[in-house]
Amino acid sequence: MSTPPRPVTAEDCRAADRADPLRPLRSRFALPEGVIYLDGNSLGALPRDAVARSAEVVTQEWGHDLIGSWNKNAWFDLPVRIGAKIGRLIGGDGGECVATDTTSVNIFKALAAALRIQDEDAPTRRVIVSERDNFPTDLYIAEGLIELLDQGYRLRLIDSPDELDDALGEDVAVVLLTHVNYRTGRLWDMADASARIHRSGALAIWDLCHSVGAIPLHVAADGADFVVGCTYKYLNGGPGSPAFVWIAERHLARAVSPLTGWWAHREPFRMSDSFAAADGGRRFLVGTQPVLSLATMEVGVDLHLEVDPDALRRKSLALTDLFIALVESRLAHHPLELVTPRDPENRGSHVSYRHPEGYAVMRALIANGVIGDYREPEVLRFGLAPLYNGFTDVWDAVETLRRVLDDELWRAPEFQLRDTVT
Ligand SMILES: *Cc1c(COP(=O)(O)O)cnc(C)c1O
Repeated sequence: MSTPPRPVTAEDCRAADRADPLRPLRSRFALPEGVIYLDGNSLGALPRDAVARSAEVVTQEWGHDLIGSWNKNAWFDLPVRIGAKIGRLIGGDGGECVATDTTSVNIFKALAAALRIQDEDAPTRRVIVSERDNFPTDLYIAEGLIELLDQGYRLRLIDSPDELDDALGEDVAVVLLTHVNYRTGRLWDMADASARIHRSGALAIWDLCHSVGAIPLHVAADGADFVVGCTYKYLNGGPGSPAFVWIAERHLARAVSPLTGWWAHREPFRMSDSFAAADGGRRFLVGTQPVLSLATMEVGVDLHLEVDPDALRRKSLALTDLFIALVESRLAHHPLELVTPRDPENRGSHVSYRHPEGYAVMRALIANGVIGDYREPEVLRFGLAPLYNGFTDVWDAVETLRRVLDDELWRAPEFQLRDTVT
């Protein structure tokens, strides 16, 4: 297949948008006029159909059908039904996926379940391997669980993928990795890493927060034991929408969630005085589900199920390639250091740059209509969501960045103060 030439002028970008087979999907999202939204990796844009769906759940299902909705509108099955759809999106053949709780809580459950399986099979394995620059919650949850278990577990952190083999060994129980790094956008080869982890006798938990909805996934074929991920980033599920947890088929019978709430019970409405876990994925539920968030989130998941993941990936890489090329050709005179891998094979769907005044630069960019975000230290992050971002967006964003830097717009005092959420 021939790759179209990379656009180099504003007109080329407009032509690339016209030729883009995914372009029509943009109209399925409500995006404000005059804004270039490059933060879909933090909070995905609003699918237009989600407006009607959330109104329907509130007005009809809650307002009119009231408590009957648990049965009549199948609220009870939402986490399993939507989880199954996400399971399809991530290539979770044979395993089970439920949509529930937050990624943080799901990491806790998956990690505890994996440690327990290993404790039965190989009780001398007491190390959890992860990455020092993993998303903080992943590390915090692991630390907290280690302390709670109080069984001599410890965390071993690696500083780059090259250190994985050295970190593996007879003492490692579980490896907890994030598929696409939230700051740098670096992508792990899941199949290769999982195979190495398994050869060493450990289990692999993958966090898909920055890859689901942007990268084709085959978690079962690629050897994941458990995966977790969120739905409010590239899946466009809405602010704080429930996350998911997937358990590989080979662990379904044995995987035990440490949070044995009544929704994990085999028969929750028998109101039994003792716990008996449900089969499969359901046992990873805890308590009453956030129905409004789940129902709204399903719209984003359905939208993704319509799209060919390989086409999405091709466009995502074309967008990030263009961004990198334009910064290189038009902004070379500024101290912007690319921290995202240049090799497309190793890159997710966002591009990050270090700049000594990163925070103020991002504030100035946002004030000028280009919404990206900032991550410590000094990192400007631009998420290119292939469902709704286009080539002209990239051109215009880079030109605005050029103006912010050339004219030193970031020096204005109002851009120096930190907001609570960056
Ligand atoms: C966004 C993100 C999270 C978020 O966790 P929440 O519990 O939803 O706040 C966790 N891990 C990674 C790698 C992320 O990128």
